[in-house]
Amino acid sequence: MRVDVIVIGGGAAGLMCAFVAGGRGRRVALLEHNERVGRKIEISGGGRCNFTNLNTTAGNFISRNPHFAKSALARYTPADFVKLVGRHGIRYHEKKLGQLFCDESSRQIVEMLLEECDAARVQVFTGCRVEDVGKGELFQVKTNRGEFESESLVVATGGLSIPKLGATDFGYRLARQFGLKVVQPEPALVPLTLAPRDLSKFQSLSGVSVPAVVSCGGAEFAENVLVTHRGLSGPAVLQISSYWSRGQALSLDLLPGEDTRALLERKRAAGAELHTALAQHLPKRFAQVWAELFAPPRPLHAYTDAQVERVAALLHDWRILPAGTEGFQKAEVTRGGVSTDELSSKTMEARGVPGLYFIGEVVDVTGHLGGYNFQWAWASGHAAGESA
Ligand SMILES: Cc1cc2nc3c(=O)[nH]c(=O)nc-3n(C[C@H](O)[C@H](O)[C@H](O)COP(=O)(O)OP(=O)(O)OC[C@H]3O[C@@H](n4cnc5c(N)ncnc54)[C@H](O)[C@@H]3O)c2cc1C
Repeated sequence: MRVDVIVIGGGAAGLMCAFVAGGRGRRVALLEHNERVGRKIEISGGGRCNFTNLNTTAGNFISRNPHFAKSALARYTPADFVKLVGRHGIRYHEKKLGQLFCDESSRQIVEMLLEECDAARVQVFTGCRVEDVGKGELFQVKTNRGEFESESLVVATGGLSIPKLGATDFGYRLARQFGLKVVQPEPALVPLTLAPRDLSKFQSLSGVSVPAVVSCGGAEFAENVLVTHRGLSGPAVLQISSYWSRGQALSLDLLPGEDTRALLERKRAAGAELHTALAQHLPKRFAQVWAELFAPPRPLHAYTDAQVERVAALLHDWRILPAGTEGFQKAEVTRGGVSTDELSSKTMEARGVPGLYFIGEVVDVTGHLGGYNFQWAWASGHAAGESA
């Protein structure tokens, strides 16, 4: 089949790109190897799809080139996507911090994208496995559903996260086939694991969540940390995992903004125990276990000044060395991907291969938690859809 644009991957970015290109009168074929499109959208945001974030800036993304995302993000904004959602009568709400979720179901977002594709006469082929891609004058894509040819080829196959939903390394392999650099893909927005020795110490805290400022690799996030039966999770840890590399310790500030030295002195004068003093600021069970593990086993009044000093400092800079991550099985996204050096930030077209585009998560642009990854998928998909 001869078309103008082939889009490989029917996720957030691919669907957006397909109907924008179709809307310009381009004949578009979208190829998806799953039996239906948008499976990650369906499960996103706990089934309600956190489809954008009103406060999106380039600062919410990680990339070797922190400026790369700016152009596409500026030309297709959260307000543009909200307008689209509004036109389809989908009700939504702001949960917190600019994060917009569907009131009912993320399935509505998939249906909306499919309706837009339909209106733009995009031909959607599901259950379509790509076997080979070649390039002569046109791109030739061989699949189990026949051969497709086009002037433009858009790769929107996402990252490696959640293989059981159809994630593959196809996009990276194709980039390499055309001589493009790929930044090593790693799991991101992912729970971190602890070594057995640390795990046994914290086992009784599994399920407990504490507010903290977590920092590592020059980034910090103030959110909750959840102790799990494998290690650490919760929004603060998921966020910091995108900056973490093996061998680095996390620093947790359990009482941010608090003068811990003065607090402990007051409690010492009042004859309190450390864990009861901490329980006024932290969950009781956590305060108890933390005090048992990290402080001298005696009432505060029996602490030396040096011990008060040490515990006060530890409350602001408690170091934990993760053993690893829970991997692509549990990672919400993949950081790394097709190097932004290879792509035009305006159109997402490969500089050295005219007609070849990469959009969405397959590119080395990774958002923070909170609707940013979809906003990148919409914006990069839109940019390529206007050009392909
Ligand atoms: C559990 C979970 C919850 C999430 N929640 C949110 C959220 O609420 N908000 C947010 O912003 N982000 C969220 N994300 C991240 C977000 O889903 C992704 O960043 C986004 O879907 C990326 O869009 P994409 O189109 O680039 O890739 P994808 O949506 O992954 O789409 C890629 C598509 O390509 C197909 N494909 C792959 N290989 C091939 C091949 N060889 N041939 C044909 N097709 C192929 C895949 O089947 C898939 O349909 C979540 C992720 C997960 C895993």
